[in-house]
Amino acid sequence: MKLIFEKSMPGHRSDLLPALDVPAFDLPASMKRAEKPALPELSETEVSRHYTELVKQVHGVNCGFYPLGSCTMKYNPRIDEETAALEGFTHVHPLADARDTAGCRKVLETAKELLCEITGMDDMTFEPAAGAHGEFTGVLLIKQYHKSRGDEARRKIIVPDSAHGTNPATAAMCGFDVVNIASGPDGLVDLDALKAALGPDVAGLMLTNPNTVGLFDSNILEITRLVHEAGGLCYYDGANLNAVMGVVRPGDMGFDCVHLNLHKTFATPHGGGGPGAGAVGCKAFLADFLPCSVTMDGPGRLQVRSFAGNFLVVVKALTYILTLGREGIPEAAENAVLNANYLMEKIKGTFEPAFDRICMHEFVLTLDKYKKETGVSALDVAKSLIDYGMHPPTMYFPLIVHEALMLEPTETESKATLDEAAEIFRKLYKQGFEDPETMKTAPHHAAIGRPDEVRAARNPVLRWKKEE
Ligand SMILES: *Cc1c(COP(=O)(O)O)cnc(C)c1O
Repeated sequence: MKLIFEKSMPGHRSDLLPALDVPAFDLPASMKRAEKPALPELSETEVSRHYTELVKQVHGVNCGFYPLGSCTMKYNPRIDEETAALEGFTHVHPLADARDTAGCRKVLETAKELLCEITGMDDMTFEPAAGAHGEFTGVLLIKQYHKSRGDEARRKIIVPDSAHGTNPATAAMCGFDVVNIASGPDGLVDLDALKAALGPDVAGLMLTNPNTVGLFDSNILEITRLVHEAGGLCYYDGANLNAVMGVVRPGDMGFDCVHLNLHKTFATPHGGGGPGAGAVGCKAFLADFLPCSVTMDGPGRLQVRSFAGNFLVVVKALTYILTLGREGIPEAAENAVLNANYLMEKIKGTFEPAFDRICMHEFVLTLDKYKKETGVSALDVAKSLIDYGMHPPTMYFPLIVHEALMLEPTETESKATLDEAAEIFRKLYKQGFEDPETMKTAPHHAAIGRPDEVRAARNPVLRWKKEE
């Protein structure tokens, strides 16, 4: 497909600028560019066709099944987009007078109240723009807390080996030493390893429950008790709250501080690099350390982003929570868990789950044995799924599982879709033994076959340059 610059034809145009209705102002020559910018010239029809062609080349939740584990690619109701598009929300200026922003404040306050109830926290900020940004903010709260008590010997943050990669990265960014503890063979935190790591130099623990292999750690109360007893605090990575929202609360599990990805669980589409919100909640004793722009005009303490964060993402989250209500929130969580278990059971017998027990909202397959038998890897299976109109699952994550494929079907998929997906997995399983070559060269019907992913990451070509 050609780039929009390559499609450009001199003289074609689609701009419709209104007539100037203010006095013309001539910029001084020093501020003007010497040459015209090299912008593509196309008619409105050509622009529209270009973007429609691009749309056809990507896969989204509106195109088909998208079981990308740890990403919660669920269908987001249109009503959430509609409220976020209301003029009173889109046209508000962050520096507007407090009198004129009462409605927006009410949105922030109500969303805070409801999300605090869902997480079991006492206070919250919406400043952080993403999950990792929320983690950074949350771990800074822990740092500030220890500092305020003169307890500066606490240099370490404990992170289990199954953690999302952002957890150790966050701890390091906040200036802590990262202590990795190994999971037990059951995929859960090894209590002895935790006890051995705890001490007066530990600032806290970062954990997600259910963890990244989709298992709920039933020792959670003991884990948080041990950390508190050693003087540390407990941070909950709530990026994926899909499995537990309205059912179990991080606050009740003993966590002191949590971030949520509103752009996974609460109605803003995840992926595609759009705006997100890593809402950070905490218990009352940490509230003084929170960034306080939530009321839009408070005196700044810690500040991690301008103004109230990505406000429209909060509007969507609030709409989502209010439309689902007290019954709908836990029902969505229960269906997410049901769908994951249903799909896992249907696939079992071919590709094998890494941990053969009831999972939460996602599960991990291991293709270690299958690869040894057929030569077909997790990557080959993922690529083959593309030819069936399905988005591949997350691959090679978490790192503790060999040849991992991680599936998160989400609550918004029907039984028919899950049956169809399981059938495709069964078919591919068989194909690996009969015709591995076709799988090793898949996909065969996509716009791009197998890009050189290492080169794409090391030498990304992100900018078009006009040929001289
Ligand atoms: C997605 C995710 C994150 C990071 O969220 P971003 O918004 O991508 O920064 C952190 N932890 C877990 C468990 C996640 O799934």
